[in-house]
Amino acid sequence: MRGDFLPFYRLSIGQEEAEEVLQVLNSGWLSTGPKTRLFEEELKNFLGAPAVLCVNSCTSALHLSLVVLGIGSGDEVITTPMTFAASVNVIEHVRARPVLVDVERDTLNINPELVEKAVSSRTRAIMVVHYAGHPAELDSFHAIARANGCHIIEDAAHALSAQYRGKSIGSGENLTCFSFYATKNLTTGEGGALSGSADLIARARMLSLHGLSEHAWLRYSRSGSWRYQIVEPGFKYNMSDIQAAIGLAQLRKITDFQKRREEIVSLYNDAFKDNEALEIPTERPGIKHSWHLYVLRLHLKALRIGRDEFIDELKKRNIGTSVHFIPIHVHPYYASKYGYSPSDLPVAYEESLRVVSLPLGPWMTDQDAYDVIESVNNVAVTYRR
Ligand SMILES: *Cc1c(COP(=O)(O)O)cnc(C)c1O
Repeated sequence: MRGDFLPFYRLSIGQEEAEEVLQVLNSGWLSTGPKTRLFEEELKNFLGAPAVLCVNSCTSALHLSLVVLGIGSGDEVITTPMTFAASVNVIEHVRARPVLVDVERDTLNINPELVEKAVSSRTRAIMVVHYAGHPAELDSFHAIARANGCHIIEDAAHALSAQYRGKSIGSGENLTCFSFYATKNLTTGEGGALSGSADLIARARMLSLHGLSEHAWLRYSRSGSWRYQIVEPGFKYNMSDIQAAIGLAQLRKITDFQKRREEIVSLYNDAFKDNEALEIPTERPGIKHSWHLYVLRLHLKALRIGRDEFIDELKKRNIGTSVHFIPIHVHPYYASKYGYSPSDLPVAYEESLRVVSLPLGPWMTDQDAYDVIESVNNVAVTYRR
């Protein structure tokens, strides 16, 4: 058994990030400025996006997306229950109604056939989450959106580096939101970005800094002016140059990070694929998985313990894990406001009871992965029915 605790995640931050941040600290400019603009430019190139705006979180990016598209009271936004609080909370913030639609059993992404049935005359957007980094079937969602005159918003918090049919997630015209939270594939501590068409991003940029007229962020610099106008009541969602500096150093490493994630995933897949108590993640043809999460599923009928005990047993063996997610419709606010019972979205609910996210990241050594494998196999054998 492993001697020290292996956490669910560790940061992959080094000297390069420290040097970039030190440059900013010594530059005399900490807020949104030249580093943020450079990070936006490099992200835009990396994604092949028409335009990119950096903000202070993915939650802000999701909120801005709804506001930019003019979604509000009386409108409906279709989304998935297999997501984090942020995706659905922002729909409440704009006073629209989140319409939760069940997921596909294999990818745990929102199910296009069920989305088609859930579209109504009030539907203004479909918010697609690329669960764990496996792209959702974007062609189907774009077809539904075109046929019904609604928008697609992508929650790509898990999906930096993912591709759908040869195109990067975030390279399209529709608004796509990324997270640079500490656990994500690229981190700035806290942070996020929004990609999409130049028009949508220009409006999001204005709204991300109090709704001030263009270049207001330069108002304290030599090239700026003290004069600005409030065009709309916007938000305080801008990214700082300190965050952007970390992001720039991280972006230079992202290809190596992804390669390492894939190596760990193949160690896991090889070790678990023939175990009858376990089910490895799906990878459909035509996509590139960004492997934000490695979500192992338990065949509960083959085990004498449930998922929660499985996690406890792994912890006793010094392996940290997590669960993604407790479905949205089971949480008290959404269950009571919209009258959901767990079985209303049966696939999301049933699958959520048998998922375990294993440690996965570029910080892991082969030995770390072997320790996880040994413990998972040991728990699975010990509690075999
Ligand atoms: C992490 C996450 C978010 C929120 O990201 P923040 O940058 O912390 O706001 C949104 N959606 C999903 C699916 C996430 O995993």
